[in-house]
Amino acid sequence: MSTATKTNGRPETATNGEGRVEHIAPVPFEHEELAVRRGERSGTYVIVAVHSTALGPALGGARMWRYPGPVDASRDALRLAQGMTLKAAAAGLDLGGGKGVICVPDGGFASREQRIGALLDFAELVESLRGHYVTAEDVGTSTDDMVVLSELTRHVVGLPRDRGGSGDPSPYTAIGVEAAIRATLEARLGSPELEGRTVAIVGLGHVGAELARRLSAAGAILTVSDVDRSKRAVARAVGATWVPADEAMATECEVLSPCALGGAIDSSSIGSLRCGIVCGSANNQLADDSLADELAAAGILYAPDFIANAGGLMNVYREIRGYGPGRALELVLGIEGTMDRILEAATERRTTPLAAARELAAERLAAAGDARRGAKPIAVAH
Ligand code: NAD
Repeated sequence: MSTATKTNGRPETATNGEGRVEHIAPVPFEHEELAVRRGERSGTYVIVAVHSTALGPALGGARMWRYPGPVDASRDALRLAQGMTLKAAAAGLDLGGGKGVICVPDGGFASREQRIGALLDFAELVESLRGHYVTAEDVGTSTDDMVVLSELTRHVVGLPRDRGGSGDPSPYTAIGVEAAIRATLEARLGSPELEGRTVAIVGLGHVGAELARRLSAAGAILTVSDVDRSKRAVARAVGATWVPADEAMATECEVLSPCALGGAIDSSSIGSLRCGIVCGSANNQLADDSLADELAAAGILYAPDFIANAGGLMNVYREIRGYGPGRALELVLGIEGTMDRILEAATERRTTPLAAARELAAERLAAAGDARRGAKPIAVAH
C-alpha cells in the first residue's frame, strides 16, 4: 500500500552524508510529495521524497540503508531530497530535488531474491510517480541495481554505458572538483594553474584517486591519505607523499581536498587546519553550516561542497536527454565558471561562498516559482 502525505512533520533524527543515523537535524516539511510503501515482494519499506519539481524532474539517488524504522527512513529521504533541490539549482541544472530510500530489514536481506524484490518494489513506486521523480545509484546501490530497476520503471538513470547509460559518475565528479579547485586558486592566488601548487587529498576512493591522478598530471605537488593503507599504491603511482589518516586534515598545503566521509571539518578539527583553501568532493564536509563563518574568519576559503561535487549529478542529468560523454564533460567543466561567480558574489556581498551558493540556488528557484510545478514530467530516454 502506498501513501502520499503533506504534513508539517519535523524529523528528529537524520544521517550524515554516508547514511549513518547519528544526529538531530530538523527539516521543515516543504516537500511536494512523500510516498511510503511496504513492498509486496520484499516486505520492506520503500520510500520516495520529492522536495521540488520547480526546475524539472526531481532527481536523486536510491539509498539502500538500515534505519531504526520507516519513519526515520522517511525523514532521511525528506532531508536528502531537500539537499538535492539545492544542489541541482545551484549547479544550474533543470532538475528538481528528490531522493529514494530502500529500507534494509533488521539483520539484512535474508536472500538475494529478497534484495532484488526490494529493488523491484522500489521501481514500481518510482514508476507510479510518472516521472516526477527520477532515480539513480546512491549509497548501497550500484549501476547493476539500476538495470534491475529499469525492468519496472523508465525513470532511472546511472545505467551502465553498454545499456545506454552514463556509467560510473566518479570520474566526472573528480573532473568537477578539479574545475572547482582551479576557480578557488584563481580567486585566492590569481591563477587557475595547478603546476607547483600544494594539494592534500584526504580519501583515495573512487573520486579521490581519480582526482589525485588528474592533479598530478597537471603538475600539483600532492600529499594523500586514506584509512585503507592499500591505497598507498595510488600514492606511489602518482608520486604523492603519503601521510597517516589522523594527520591528513592538518597537512600544510594551499588546497585541502576532503574526499572521504562527511563531517570532516568540525569545531574540534577546524583549529588544526593549515591550508588556504578547502575544496573537495565529500558531501556535507562541514559538520555544521556555521563553520563556514569560522573558516572565513580564519582566512580559509571554503568552496561549497555541493557546487564542487556536482559533476556526478551533471553526468547522470545528461542521461535524461540522451547521453553523450562530450556534452556531460562540457557541463562538468562549467563548474569552474559557476564557482568563479559564487566567489565573486561572496566578495561583493561580504558573505561566505556557502551563503552565496545558497543565494544563487534560492534565486533560481524563486525565478522558476511555481510555474513549472505543473509541467509535464520528462521521460528518460534509453
Ligand atoms: P569511496 O567510498 O569510493 O571512497 C571513500 C574513501 O575514503 C575510501 O577509500 C575510504 O577508505 C576513505 N576514508 C574513509 N574515512 C577516511 C578518513 N577518516 N580518512 C581518510 N580516508 C578515509 O567514495 P567516493 O565515491 O570516492 O566518494 C567520496 C566522497 O565524495 C563521499 O563523501 C561521497 O558522498 C562524495 N561524492 C561522491 C560522488 C561520486 O561520484 N562518487 C559524487 C558526489 C559526492
